[in-house]
Amino acid sequence: MIKIKNSEILSVGTELLLGDIVNTDAAYVARGLAALGINLYHQGVVGDNPERLEEALTLALGRSDLVILTGGLGPTYDDLTKETAARLMGRSMYLHEESLERMRARFANRGLTMTENNKKQALMPEGAVVFKNDYGTAPGLAIEDEEKGKIIIMLPGPPRELEPMFDEVVVPYLKKFSERVLLSKTVNIFGMGESKVETVLKDIMLNSKNPTLAPYAKDGEVLLRVTASGENEPECSAMCDEMIAKIRETEVGDYIYGIDAGSLEAALVNELLKQGKTIAAAESCTGGYVAKRITNVSGSSSVIDGSIVTYANRIKEKFVGVSHETLERHGAVSPDTALQMARGVRELFGADVGISTTGVAGPTGGTPEKPVGRVYVAVSCDNHEEVRELTLGERATREYIRFVSASHALDLARRAIVKN
Ligand code: ATP
Repeated sequence: MIKIKNSEILSVGTELLLGDIVNTDAAYVARGLAALGINLYHQGVVGDNPERLEEALTLALGRSDLVILTGGLGPTYDDLTKETAARLMGRSMYLHEESLERMRARFANRGLTMTENNKKQALMPEGAVVFKNDYGTAPGLAIEDEEKGKIIIMLPGPPRELEPMFDEVVVPYLKKFSERVLLSKTVNIFGMGESKVETVLKDIMLNSKNPTLAPYAKDGEVLLRVTASGENEPECSAMCDEMIAKIRETEVGDYIYGIDAGSLEAALVNELLKQGKTIAAAESCTGGYVAKRITNVSGSSSVIDGSIVTYANRIKEKFVGVSHETLERHGAVSPDTALQMARGVRELFGADVGISTTGVAGPTGGTPEKPVGRVYVAVSCDNHEEVRELTLGERATREYIRFVSASHALDLARRAIVKN
């Protein structure tokens, strides 16, 4: 059995090389390899050129046991990944009848006729492990070289094909090369920055080899991946839970909003479902972002009553009952306005919880008292009302300010109902 000690990703495509498209395939595969506990030491991109691909692949095979190639499995002349890899591994090509049949059926199903060059996609290197593709035409494949201890995996470029194929076929395939089981749980943290999380957890991180802890920041949140390696899944799961319990005891504990929660909005929707409560939003600077994120979650229809974008002051007064005096005296970007919006929308929609956002998203419109990035989010529910003032930074982009403001509104709402 080949032992995979390290791996490498090589993406093929001139459009990737020249920056016309972003290499999301490599990011997806890299995350998958990390979850499997396979060391990944290099990533590369090479254009649709057989000589340079051969050169890159030779280099990759010289230093990595597993090379995952993405793209270039299509039917056209510039799709040359498979042929180049086969040549390097000393394999001739043959027609893989089963793949050809699958492709024929797929074309027939859609009322299309297969062209001669489509057949090229059913050509396989001798001895290859063929990965069926339920999401497109080009099958994926692996060439194993026991003698050299090397594996090349090839996957089609389109992410809608690569991603499900990776999860459904490649992950189980790669698990065969590992004697131990790996299991990861993700701790979702909001409201504490990555460096603070790292500082608080430094000792735990340094002293823990199994499970390992890996923090990373994404969309204004911090995710902490806890990965345990053991004999079986229950054992790994218990090891992760023990580590998570330790983390909860630290200062970070108060900022954890879930384990494998997916997102702030998913955690909020779940909590609302659990408590049988509904929510409504009045949004100014986020322009509907809060509602969009809540409705992204399947099952949200039974918890969200509605949402209203109250951008103009006149609309804030008319629909969610912000008083004229408040707007005159404190302005639209103020704690008072935010609170009145949350109260008003809760009443307007007859919801259990009302949330609101109002702020300066920039890049223009900031003043010394209310700079760009100053946002107020508020929540109103039975026995609890709260306003959170945010200072997101004058240099933050409009998109970042809007997104993170929505995150704070979602977080504030979830905390309020958990507390209640
Ligand atoms: P096809 O059968 O569609 O030709 P293929 O395996 O030959 O698939 P490519 O021709 O390299 O793949 O790429 C097809 C499309 O897939 C690209 O135009 C691009 O939209 C997308 N794609 C390819 N590689 C990547 C990548 N690494 N990350 C994100 N998207 C990619």
